[in-house]
Amino acid sequence: MSCLMEGVGQGSSTASEPLAGDPDVLVVGLGPAGACAAAAAAAAGCRVLAVERRTSVGEPVQCAELVSAALSLEALPWDSVTSQRITRMVTAVEGEAPEVTEGFPGRMICRRLFDQTLAQRAAASGARFLLGTAVTRVFPDGGVQLSNHRIIHPRLLVGADGPRSQVGATLGRANHELVAARQLTVRLDEPYEATDIFLRSAYRGGYGWLFPKDREANLGVGVDYSCRDRLKPLLQGLHSDLIAAGRVRPAPALGLTGGLIPVGGRLRAIGRLGTVPVALAGDAAGLTNPVTGAGIEAAVRSGELAGRAASGWLSGNIAGLEDYEEELSELYDAAYARALRHRRDALHCASPMTLRHGWITSPEYWA
Ligand SMILES: Cc1cc2nc3c(=O)[nH]c(=O)nc-3n(C[C@H](O)[C@H](O)[C@H](O)COP(=O)(O)OP(=O)(O)OC[C@H]3O[C@@H](n4cnc5c(N)ncnc54)[C@H](O)[C@@H]3O)c2cc1C
Repeated sequence: MSCLMEGVGQGSSTASEPLAGDPDVLVVGLGPAGACAAAAAAAAGCRVLAVERRTSVGEPVQCAELVSAALSLEALPWDSVTSQRITRMVTAVEGEAPEVTEGFPGRMICRRLFDQTLAQRAAASGARFLLGTAVTRVFPDGGVQLSNHRIIHPRLLVGADGPRSQVGATLGRANHELVAARQLTVRLDEPYEATDIFLRSAYRGGYGWLFPKDREANLGVGVDYSCRDRLKPLLQGLHSDLIAAGRVRPAPALGLTGGLIPVGGRLRAIGRLGTVPVALAGDAAGLTNPVTGAGIEAAVRSGELAGRAASGWLSGNIAGLEDYEEELSELYDAAYARALRHRRDALHCASPMTLRHGWITSPEYWA
């Protein structure tokens, strides 16, 4: 059943009045990109409606939950969304001894709480939500049909609806290169402060990971979408290897998740449907690093920028959306072009040397 927001997660009690009439800004998707776009536009005085197909924001979690320590977010209660700190990265190329790289500070976050906190910020700024409501159709004139059959005509549309964005598809922008990922939650014998990366030729176009969160860890494998049928045995194999090595407990997994990650580089993030301007943000705009798959930080930043650009456009700054596109280009294009080059090299020839040089801890990656 769709409901006007009564809370962003179970147990939350924030209530809000229904939005009368059509919104200035319709945000599709309440992941980090959508929540940050909604918060920024609402804080600037826009009437914002965000539509999310899940009934509870942030659930189920489809993420390995690692962010760089550099991610800053004003007024975010970091302590309450952080599972643990990360200090270093260990890279294990198949057939070689693992290499430790110090100075890779990060945080493991509780992604459910992170997304819910961002959504609560948006609600506090005045954004209205429709949870448990999917966008079922985006019309070429910018009208949007919801699963409750309502049709909305926003003044501006933000597509923050993830890797298979329907808003993006209507604009003719789609993420064609994808990694498919599968992840278990496993138990650790003792706390650990590094993120482990496993580079193997079998993980075509992707990699394996063990990311600790206190006495548990996210253990996953990602591969090029064309190899998705092999994911289950590949992850089982890595799990068995780590049990045999005494790295994880020989106990049944505590959870299973997975999902898709866009890895083909950034898409043009602005466009128009009829007279309605459109901005894409986060995964919908292809904003994940093609090698690491990291996209939380870019979702947050692009969401904030998209929300500001939307409010600027609505208050008469016609160039605001072009500025948004330029800002994204400056922030991400060089880094993603480098990553894309390495990803394609590894797809072409997955020798231990290509795998090592194609990973971010290698000096050759940056050469
Ligand atoms: C297995 C896995 C592990 C990952 N690990 C990491 C990591 O450790 N660190 C990192 O930085 N990144 C990681 N990523 C990538 C990261 O999760 C994404 O880049 C990030 O979630 C992008 O945020 P977003 O808001 O753009 O999209 P999403 O978080 O995907 O949010 C999109 C929202 O839109 C909603 N939606 C979609 N379609 C519709 C519709 N038609 N109507 C209404 N709502 C809709 C969805 O339900 C969803 O809530 C991982 C991804 C996967 C799949």
